[in-house]
Amino acid sequence: MPGGANEIYFQNLRVLPREINGVEVLKGAEVNILDLEGNLDLAQNTLEQLDFVIASFHRPCMASGTKEENTRALTKVMSNPFVNMIGHPGNPNFPIDIVQIVRIAKETNILIEINNSSLKPGSFRKGSKEVCYAILKECKKQEVAVALGSDAHFMYDIGRFELASEMVDSLEMPEELVVNTSVARFKKIISRKV
Ligand SMILES: [Zn+2]
Repeated sequence: MPGGANEIYFQNLRVLPREINGVEVLKGAEVNILDLEGNLDLAQNTLEQLDFVIASFHRPCMASGTKEENTRALTKVMSNPFVNMIGHPGNPNFPIDIVQIVRIAKETNILIEINNSSLKPGSFRKGSKEVCYAILKECKKQEVAVALGSDAHFMYDIGRFELASEMVDSLEMPEELVVNTSVARFKKIISRKV
């Protein structure tokens, strides 16, 4: 976000050990999509050093285009070999062509996030529930993997995604399509870089 960590912070992640207190560390960033051309706010040589990169639309960084324009921007982002996941694509403030984005996710092996924070009552991404449901249904149909994300902005929220989990259960999403169910499954999908 504007005023957030500088690029040098992410470059410095190289000094972190692979394991801290018995916990394996994966290094990553959620990057902003800056414009309808799908440009991102970290340079390619920084992204290349990270294990896991999420790319998302955020209102403070760009205004939404039309559904077609947003879909085109996301399509461009998903052609970036260092991007692993699209963050909160269920955000109704940035409408997308769900069928097309899920199809590209399948082709590019990019994860679709089901963001727990978007589903909370009072979320600033109001109306996400219906869109997330439609995305999940399409992912199930096209057999595309999703990741449940806590979007933790505070340490006690880390790993909490009850609402996203409920939605996945209600749709009877096959376990192999939910990467959170297995470390091996998650690592396989990001194996291009780890
Ligand atoms: Zn975000």
